[in-house]
Amino acid sequence: MGERSRRLFQEASRYFPGGVNSPVRAFRAVGGDPFFVSHARGSRISDVDGNSYIDYVGSWGPMILGHAHPRVVAAIQGTAKSGTSFGAPTELETRLARLVQAAFPSMERMRFVSSGTEACMSALRVARGFTRRDAIVKFEGCYHGHADSLLVKAGSGVITFGVPDSLGVPAELARHTLTVPYNDLDALRALFNQRGAEIAAVIIEPVAGNMGVIPPQAGFLSGLREITRQHGALLIFDEVITGFRIAWGGAQEVSGVRADLTSLGKIVGGGVPVGVYGGRADIMEQVAPLGGVYQAGTLSGNPLAMAAGVETLSLLQAPGFYADLEAKGQRLADGLVEAAAASRVPAHTNRVGSMLTTFFTGVAVTDYATAKTSDTKRYGVFFHAMLDRGVSLAPSQFEAAFISAAHSAEDLDATVAAAREALAAVAGA
Ligand code: PMP
Repeated sequence: MGERSRRLFQEASRYFPGGVNSPVRAFRAVGGDPFFVSHARGSRISDVDGNSYIDYVGSWGPMILGHAHPRVVAAIQGTAKSGTSFGAPTELETRLARLVQAAFPSMERMRFVSSGTEACMSALRVARGFTRRDAIVKFEGCYHGHADSLLVKAGSGVITFGVPDSLGVPAELARHTLTVPYNDLDALRALFNQRGAEIAAVIIEPVAGNMGVIPPQAGFLSGLREITRQHGALLIFDEVITGFRIAWGGAQEVSGVRADLTSLGKIVGGGVPVGVYGGRADIMEQVAPLGGVYQAGTLSGNPLAMAAGVETLSLLQAPGFYADLEAKGQRLADGLVEAAAASRVPAHTNRVGSMLTTFFTGVAVTDYATAKTSDTKRYGVFFHAMLDRGVSLAPSQFEAAFISAAHSAEDLDATVAAAREALAAVAGA
C-alpha cells in the first residue's frame, strides 16, 4: 500500500470502526490495509498513490457499465440542477418503475428505498403482514443485508469474520429465522412438513453471490416455487445482485420462475443509493398508506438516484448487451481455469454470466459447507499477488468478481496473465 493511503487510513481509523464504513472494505480477510480511491473510470480504479487497477469489485456489483459512464454522470448532473431531494413525488420515480417492471413483470407494485438491506427487510415485513405468520426461511451463506432477522447464518462479511449471528440481534427474533443448506430441496421439504403453517416466506439469492458465486442446481428454484405454494408461504427472490446482472430480467427471466416478492438494489441505482422491493399487487397493497404494513423513507425515490437508474437501465437495453457480457465472462473464466490447472493449485471456478468466483478448493462448490472448504490463506496470497500486478479483486474469498461492459478483451487477457503469475506465487507459498 502506498504512503498516502496509509496516512488516510490511519486518520480514518480515528473516526470509523476499523477505518471503514462497511466491514469488508478493511481487508481483514486478506491481510494488509486498503488503498484509498481517488477516482475510477471504465474498467479501472485508481488510488491516491497513483496506482491504477483493473477493477472486478465494481462497487460490489452496481457498476455494470463501468465507472463514471459519461451518460450516467450527465444524467446525475443535469438532475441535480433542479434540486437534489424534495420528499414529494416526481415523474422520475415512475419512469424508473416502468423500466423495473418491464424487466420484472412479477413486480406489479413496488416501492423505492435507499439500499438492498431496506428492500429485503421491507419485503419480509410485507410477507409477514400478508400471511400473518412470523417464521422465515433463508439459506445458509446467503446474505440479504443486515436487518436483524436476516443476520442468521449469513454470507458476505459475516462469513469472512466467522460470526454466524451478530451480537445485538435478540434471540427472540433470530429464532423466527430458519435456515437450510443451499441447493437442498429435501431439507426444505422436511422443514415445511414440520413447520409449514408458521412460515411466512422463503427468501433466497437465486444465484448465490455472498458465499462466492454458487448457481442454483437444475430444478432448485422451481422446487422452491412448488413447496412455498403448497404451504401458503411467499417466495422472495433477493435479486439485489442478480437483477439486471445475469440478464435484464435477472434470475426470474433466466429460470422462468415467478417470485411473489422481489428485492433489487445495486445496478438499479446506477451507483447511487437505491433499493426497490415489490411483487404481487394483492400483497403490496398491504403497504401503507393502503394497508397496515408500515414502511417509509425521507430520501426514497431520490431524484439523483432515479436519474442514474433510468439512464443505466436504458443503456442495458442495447442489443447484444448481455451476450457481450456472457462472452467476457466465458473468456475470463476459461483463462482462470486454465491458469489454475497449469499451476496445479486446487481451484474451482463458478460463473454465471458476468459474476464469478475462483474457490481455492478441490471440490465442486454447491453450498455453504463446500464453499467453506476453500483455503482462505491461499486466497489472501492470490489477492495480494493480483493487486501487485494491477488487478483489484474483492478482498475476501466469499465474494463475486464482477465484469462490466467496460472491461475490454485486453483487460481480461491481462487479468489472466496476472493470474498465471499470482497462482505460481500461491503454489510456492
Ligand atoms: N442482498 C444481496 C444479495 C446483497 O448482495 C446485498 C449487499 N451485498 C444486500 C442484499 C444488501 O444490500 P445493501 O448493501 O445495499 O444494503
